Amino acid sequence: MSGGGVAAGAVATRRPSGKDAPAAGTATFERLESEVRIYCRSFPVVFVAARGYRLIDETGREYVDFVSGAGSLNYGHNHPLIKRRLIEYLERDGVTHSLDMYTAAKREFLERFEELILRPRGLQYKVQFTGPTGANAVEAALKLARKVKRRTEVIHFTNSYHGLSLGALAVTGSRSKRLAAGVPLAHATVVPFDGHPAGRGDSLAQLAALLDDPSSGLDQPAAVIVETVQAEGGVNVASRDWLRRLAALVRAADALLIVDDIQLGCGRSGRFFSFEEAGLEPDLVCLSKSIGAFGMPMALLLIKPELDAWRPGEHTGTFRGNNLAFVAATAALELYWRDDGFCREVQRKSKLAMRRLQEIAAARPGLGAAVRGRGLILGLQLPAPGMATAVARAAFARGLVIETAGPRDEVLKVMPPLTIDEDGLRHGLDTIAAALDEVPAPAPAEVIGES
Ligand code: PMP
Repeated sequence: MSGGGVAAGAVATRRPSGKDAPAAGTATFERLESEVRIYCRSFPVVFVAARGYRLIDETGREYVDFVSGAGSLNYGHNHPLIKRRLIEYLERDGVTHSLDMYTAAKREFLERFEELILRPRGLQYKVQFTGPTGANAVEAALKLARKVKRRTEVIHFTNSYHGLSLGALAVTGSRSKRLAAGVPLAHATVVPFDGHPAGRGDSLAQLAALLDDPSSGLDQPAAVIVETVQAEGGVNVASRDWLRRLAALVRAADALLIVDDIQLGCGRSGRFFSFEEAGLEPDLVCLSKSIGAFGMPMALLLIKPELDAWRPGEHTGTFRGNNLAFVAATAALELYWRDDGFCREVQRKSKLAMRRLQEIAAARPGLGAAVRGRGLILGLQLPAPGMATAVARAAFARGLVIETAGPRDEVLKVMPPLTIDEDGLRHGLDTIAAALDEVPAPAPAEVIGES
């Protein structure tokens, strides 16, 4: 996750008014919290409340949120109906933590997920509850694929992001994040993603030829892992045709197709799953972030039933039974996924935002800006080094929380809650336009870091 190109100075610490009054400002974090923190460097205020697409800091200032918890808040902050369900559940002493024991809350989630998500899409999956991070769902997918296929190698793509634990990091692109592993990252082969310059037009044809040639030197892979839209990698959208060809190629190689829908799932793409549009049926699907509906930690691996080769406890973890996440997830499924109304709403807002971003780019031809994306994850690429970072910083000063993505933090990533209203969306996009006009294009010599 880039999270970070928008470094700005710390907000001055305000003096507590009385002896026992809590400190205000950011000094406590700077003194006590590890240097590893990142998002807070771009948004150096202290947030105290949040509603829908709005964040409020401790001075009472409001911000429009175009980051949405990196995709964990598709239904916005503190959704009132989901919150009500959570409060009711807590008030009747519902089980909150249950390892992977059976609970009524988990049963209800599984039944709703089957009824409202899997069945209407003609999909059949077993559900594995992994540890609650995206990275853990990816670890589970890689382990299971290797176990089923009895092979070690996995193919991944340039600019991919699958998480920062060692297995997931081995299939993640960012050089700086890979270096932080401290050990060699093995058993992964990178291939150019759709449109990546290294692919020279058709990386899949090259991959197919390598897999087909028994002396190419490329070992037969257990799996191929892909994001249909690379979010952290710069909002790179794979075409429907490319995805279909990839799926056919994976099948021909007798490997498994893993779709990482951790950031693009739960409606972000304009459908519940991002692979629906291309008509794929991945062998394994990683889901996390917004499946917990309220920012509640939860991650899933969806497994084609015939591939569920786990033995009990082979991939376990303490926090796989977050019942508050089950309750919130069930509420969101019932509220938003009974029909395709929500998808149509996301698609409508996507068009509106895409049009406005294209206008913004066209009105400033000197910037060489490019717009891309799908659903409500859109990117405004600003090729001048440091430009996107500077614009994000200026936008924050104007009350918009927005991050950068891409290998050189060159893309402004527009990712509001899917529930945002048109006023909020327009306001956020207008703030980007105003921030663009305020920031001079940086000198070409200015060097920028990696995400
Ligand atoms: N996969 C994708 C596509 C992601 O966007 C992310 C997080 N940005 C992850 C995996 C890792 O998730 P987590 O940070 O919860 O481990």
